[in-house]
Parts: sequence; structure tokens; C-alpha cells
Amino acid sequence: MLFGWLFGSAYNDVQPIDKSNRRSRVSDKFTPHSNYPGLRNSSGVHCFLNSTIQSLASLDSLESFLEELLIESDKLDIYLPLSEALWDTIQALNNPSANRAVHTNTAVINAFSLSNTSNTTHMSPSKRALSLIQSGQQDAQEMFQCISSMLAHEESLIKSAKSSVGGLGSISTPMNTTLHKNSFPLAGLTASRLADLGCGYVEAIRNIPFDALSLNLPMQTSCNVEQLLTEYTAMETIEDASCRKCSLEATLVRLRKEVERLMPADPNSVSGSRRRKIKEAAKYERRLSSLLSEDGDLQEDARLKDIRIDRSGGGSTKQLLIARPPQILGLHINRSAYLGNGMAVKNPCKIVFGELLDITSVTTTGTLETSPRKPISSASKDMLDNLTKNGTLPNRILYTLKSIVVHYGSHYSGHYVTYRKISSDDDDDWLRTSDSSVEKVTLKHVLHENPFMIFYERVDNASSDVDDNILNSSHILSSYSLHN
Ligand SMILES: [Zn+2]
Repeated sequence: MLFGWLFGSAYNDVQPIDKSNRRSRVSDKFTPHSNYPGLRNSSGVHCFLNSTIQSLASLDSLESFLEELLIESDKLDIYLPLSEALWDTIQALNNPSANRAVHTNTAVINAFSLSNTSNTTHMSPSKRALSLIQSGQQDAQEMFQCISSMLAHEESLIKSAKSSVGGLGSISTPMNTTLHKNSFPLAGLTASRLADLGCGYVEAIRNIPFDALSLNLPMQTSCNVEQLLTEYTAMETIEDASCRKCSLEATLVRLRKEVERLMPADPNSVSGSRRRKIKEAAKYERRLSSLLSEDGDLQEDARLKDIRIDRSGGGSTKQLLIARPPQILGLHINRSAYLGNGMAVKNPCKIVFGELLDITSVTTTGTLETSPRKPISSASKDMLDNLTKNGTLPNRILYTLKSIVVHYGSHYSGHYVTYRKISSDDDDDWLRTSDSSVEKVTLKHVLHENPFMIFYERVDNASSDVDDNILNSSHILSSYSLHN
């Protein structure tokens, strides 16, 4: 076995699946004497994997997602190595005991080698995850990305198997009537818009999927998460951007000039090759002029075939907003900064973050604005007009803090730990996990830390979990004014 040297005899638990008890969730009520398990760091370089697994263990919607996915995989008899391994590990981590217990990450690492997602020439997420572990490149964010991609892939295996089962004409069995209640909870969608300041043309608004947002950190002593999100979605002006419409119009002008230039005074004295050139330019000119006279898509149209397009434009504005907020909002704080000599250093900027996060102002709220000088989403003003009696906004998109990953040390070396919320009656029950060591901490302690990754989970606005005092509107209104 390729990685045998890493795990020693641990190959015994490649498939530690006892299906009889896997589906029953552990009860994870916190009692004063209970100890939550840590994860062994046998090779000394696994803290980035351990902290990633621990940070995922507190995400309820991920747990429900895996549970449902595994029920489907049993029915369809499809083996999902990572979903199985992660589910088992999360169950173990959420199961406190009287004695201090330590689990291994072996099942998850083995799942990386068992996963076969390499259907492209690019390095697959599972291969990448293994190479991170082998090479000792400790990057918790990249590890998270690998795990997330692999889970999305395993979900797609179930989805495609189900659609082919449905395609065979089997009549409504429970199997094909329940196509995932919960889809992959980390999956979100951004909408991006590029608008030309000169002619006002708005390029088709594109949707781009994400599983975590990577936020750039300013070079300052501190800044809050809301500011980073506002910065992420701020409208930017791109001076030298070309505009599709202006470019096509410039091309049309060139083609017209070309036809004029080539056209001889005496039509009878024209050579064969010149005649062909005139014909071609005139044909392109006709196609382009008919395309521009319509209101359609200027990106891909059969009439553009073979035409060399010139570049032109008066500067553009670009904006990105969250079009579909995910159930779990993962935020990666990009702490890499580069010195003049190209050397990378860690940006120590202190992130201020809260237990509750409101992202309403950075989401598209239904109405997409197509004027280039206005923000992409224009409904925030309407929402302001609809303030409820107690001054709060309806339909807000709220998240509650579930876990953070913290990196100690320099850009090149260091240690990752995780702070995560445990399911209990007391909102103040948090854990600090550092490999095998796990201790109980309070929320106050967590909020003083300086995170590298933050995981928030969506809250139902109607839910009683949300304290009215936290929801007072002054802070929210200040973030709204940015969009008006
Ligand atoms: Zn333009």
C-alpha cells in the first residue's frame, strides 16, 4: 500500500462500517463530566486535517446531508468512501464519554485513497488531499476544499444513479420519490455583472458556484467580517476593460471601411482575390449589423463565426453578489501577503466577528439592476421601506457561528486548532480542539481568537434561537446605507 508507512497497522479500519448503528445518531448532550474526543496526530503534521474535520463536526446540516446521502447509497448499493468515513468520524467526535478518548483520522485518509474521482487530467481532489498529507504542506483551507469537492462528487454519483433508476421506468418507489431533501449544504452561488460605463451595455449576469468565500484581508490592525464581505462584493471600476457591444460596433465600423477601401472605381477591373475579400467583408458586415440591431445575446451567436472582433470599451464596472446563500457559509480569510521582494508573510490583521452574521446586504434580493452605475441588486431600498414595526428587516439572511479554525505561527510553519460549538442546551458550550487535546471553553473565549476559517450555519428567521436583542436594527441599517 502506497501510504502504509503513514498509518502503520491502521489499514484494518479501511471500511469500519457497522451499518446497524451508523444511522442512529449519537446523543450528544453535554454533561459536566463528559469528555469530547480529540484526534490523534500520529505523524506530527496532521493538525491541518484534524482541525478541518473538527470544524466540520459542528455543522448540523452537513451531518443531516451525510446521513441522507448514506441512506440513499445503501439503497443503491453505491460505496461513498469519504461520506462514510466522515460520518463515522463526526459521530465519534460528537459522542462524549466519561473517559478521555482519542480517535484517529485514519478512516478519512483512507477514504482519500479509496476515492476515485480522477476522471480528468487535472489532479483529482482525493489525490491532492493525499499529496497535502504526504508532503506535509499544511493548508487547512486546501484540505477543506478537497473534502468539499469530494463530497460534492459523491453526491453527484447518487444523483446520477437515481436519475438512471428513474429513467428505467420503475414506478414510484420510495427511492425515486425522495430526491434529496437537503442538497450539498456548502454549495452557494454568486452572481457577477459586468457593465460598460460608456454605452451602458450589461453583460449577461453570470452565476458562479462556491463552497466557501475567500476573503482578502487589508493590511491594517483589525477589521470585521462584515467589512470583508462588503469589500468582496464592492462594485469595482475596470479602466481598460473591453465591452462586448462596443467591441462589436467597432468591428462593424472597420468592416464597413474595409468594404469601401476595397471597392474599385471600375467594378469590371477587379481581380478574383480582391472580389473574394470584398464579398467576405460585406458578408461579415451584414451578419454583424443584423446581430446588433437585435436585443439578443452578444456573446455567442452563430453569426459571429469567423469574424475577428476588435477590442473597445469605455471602462466597466464589475460587481459580485451572493445569489444563492448556502446552508453553511464557509469563509476563508486569506492571510497571505507579499513583500516587495516577493516573499510571502502572514497578515496578522485581527478579524472581528460575532455569533450572528447578517449577509442580507451582500445578496441579490430578487431584482437585478442593469444600470452600470448602480449596484447589481436594487431591492435593498424596498426592503428598508418594509421595516417591521420593531425596526427589523423581514427576510433577512442570518447565520450563526458554528466553528472557526485558527492558525498559530508564521506563513511557513505553525499549528492549527479548532473552536467549535457543541450541541447542548447552553449556547456557551464550546470546545477548543488541538489534535488529541480537547477542552471546554466559552463563546467569549472563541470571539477573542483570530480565525483563518469561519463556518456559519443559516438560521431560520422565525426560529426562536435568534435573540431579538441581537437583531436590533442599528448595525444592519448602517450596512444597508452602503447600497443606497
Ligand atoms: Zn460598451
